[in-house]
Amino acid sequence: MTRLASLLRDQDPILQALRIGPHTFPGIWQYMLPQEFLGLKFPAESRATCMNCPKACYDSYRADYRCCTYHPRVPNFLLGLALQTEQGRGSVKGLLDRGMLLPEGMHYAPGQWIDYLDDLQAESFGRSEKVLCPHLDQSNGYCRIHAFRNSVCSTFFCYKDHGDLGDHFWSQVQTLGSQVEAALQQWSLFVVGFDLSRYFKAFDRLAPEILKVTDKTGWQEFALDELWGNWRGRELELMEACAEAVLEQRENLWEIANSFPIDESKPFDKALIRSVPRRLKDQVDPEDQAGDDGEAARPRDLWLSCLKSYHKLWDLPEGAFELSPRIDILPNEGSDAESVYYKDKPYVLHYYLRKSSKTIDWKLYLSEAQKRFLEMFREEARELDWEVLMSREFRGVPQGKEFLAQLVTQKILVRRQYH
Ligand code: SF4
Ligand code: SF4
Repeated sequence: MTRLASLLRDQDPILQALRIGPHTFPGIWQYMLPQEFLGLKFPAESRATCMNCPKACYDSYRADYRCCTYHPRVPNFLLGLALQTEQGRGSVKGLLDRGMLLPEGMHYAPGQWIDYLDDLQAESFGRSEKVLCPHLDQSNGYCRIHAFRNSVCSTFFCYKDHGDLGDHFWSQVQTLGSQVEAALQQWSLFVVGFDLSRYFKAFDRLAPEILKVTDKTGWQEFALDELWGNWRGRELELMEACAEAVLEQRENLWEIANSFPIDESKPFDKALIRSVPRRLKDQVDPEDQAGDDGEAARPRDLWLSCLKSYHKLWDLPEGAFELSPRIDILPNEGSDAESVYYKDKPYVLHYYLRKSSKTIDWKLYLSEAQKRFLEMFREEARELDWEVLMSREFRGVPQGKEFLAQLVTQKILVRRQYH
């Protein structure tokens, strides 16, 4: 039995997707985040129906890749865990063959990042021909490393039930997860004796050659030689060693992520930004453009920000609310693929771009009970108080409080004085 296998428990939850409410996260999230995370009530994100993707149905996204037209950075320890599954093993080996595997994990080459910016500029995200995630199984549209995907993939929803507030909440969770991942991927390298200082110096040396380091599908061989050093040829072994480090300390990962300093090669990062063609500069994140020299945010502080935006999701505000003039509620005619998918919901709410506009911004399918509850606010503006909560209409809606919060954050119910 290998050492890594001996560290795995029977039916180890770290190798399974973690289910919280309607969502699945990587199994390691139950160890690397605060325990309170497991008790959060997440927005259902009922419109991001991935295997019946609305973006593919109505927004010309590729039906096969949908929003997986990007190259995620997946940490070494997650890839080491993925190697313990049959599908994951094939996928991670594929990364190695393409030259997209670095000691920190899956890492796109600079030219691939420029391709991604080019897609953003051409509004081709979701339609790309050149930036396609190698982990997606084209035969069925599923992710081959689903239980080991990174924080960005785990928190991305094209439509948010709670509008801008939901967007803010998920982006806070994503930042938290990414920061913890970044700390643990470097910490695990340190633990297994990988020379991090030599690694970042290798990046420094590659900075002047940034335009030459990209191959057709990943990094050029000479760059890989530089970055891997004496681990070249033992790449998968290093991924598994990092997974071992994480498994051994699984109960302490949150504390480790909060105390291990994250390093980077500033010369390489600056060269990367400079390498962006002028026509694509607007697509670069302003924070990256500024070349932030400050310290990375601590996961503990990011967690507090997550909680702040979490509470805003569910707080019911004071004041009298009524139905927005930008909505219409119609019978669900079952006339297209989306409405057939929601055949158990007899109504559909259309939310228009503007008041009196005929252009639909988005739709929400409603049950009989949800529609009946909404109609209460057509008749008159109401406080979101005990009377509403005790009404027959409200009590008829399953998970009524969540639904009510969603109506407010999506501006389906608006304060009376707003129009
Ligand atoms: S999150 Fe992606 S796959 Fe899921 S519904 Fe949205 S675009 Fe489609
Ligand atoms: S890792 Fe999985 S979820 Fe993320 S982009 Fe790739 S296929 Fe999609």
